[in-house]
Amino acid sequence: MNSARIDLRAIIKQEGLRYTTQREAVWRELQSSDNHRDAESIYFTLRGRSINISRATVYRTIEILVKYNLVRKLDLGDGRSRFECKLGSGHHDHLICTKCGRIDEFVNDDVEELQKSIAAENNYVLSNHIHQLFGLCENCQNEEDK
Ligand SMILES: [Zn+2]
Ligand SMILES: [Zn+2]
Repeated sequence: MNSARIDLRAIIKQEGLRYTTQREAVWRELQSSDNHRDAESIYFTLRGRSINISRATVYRTIEILVKYNLVRKLDLGDGRSRFECKLGSGHHDHLICTKCGRIDEFVNDDVEELQKSIAAENNYVLSNHIHQLFGLCENCQNEEDK
């Protein structure tokens, strides 16, 4: 998918909303980083850049981007969804540090194949999967030692 070809204007209109520079700023902000961020962080980054945007607009716009498959929503079980831009990033899974919240990405062909064969053994055809590993990252393990 080519980001230049995505017509955010059409998507926003489709949702019965007005296309604004604020909504566009949310999309740009999500595209600008590889991090997995929550809506609050995106809100504060935009506010910090003197963009006059409401929390509600940030949340609503992200919701639409998720709905149209432009942004991936990660549920880490802590009630704070993280978001990442899907453009240019293929399928990957996540390692999550439960102490500092660091998130690393991984792809492992064996894991992918194993999941497919588990599905097949149970007569499922997979549409997608979410694979998350929780633990302590290297930094946090070292801190525990002190
Ligand atoms: Zn950590
Ligand atoms: Zn990711």
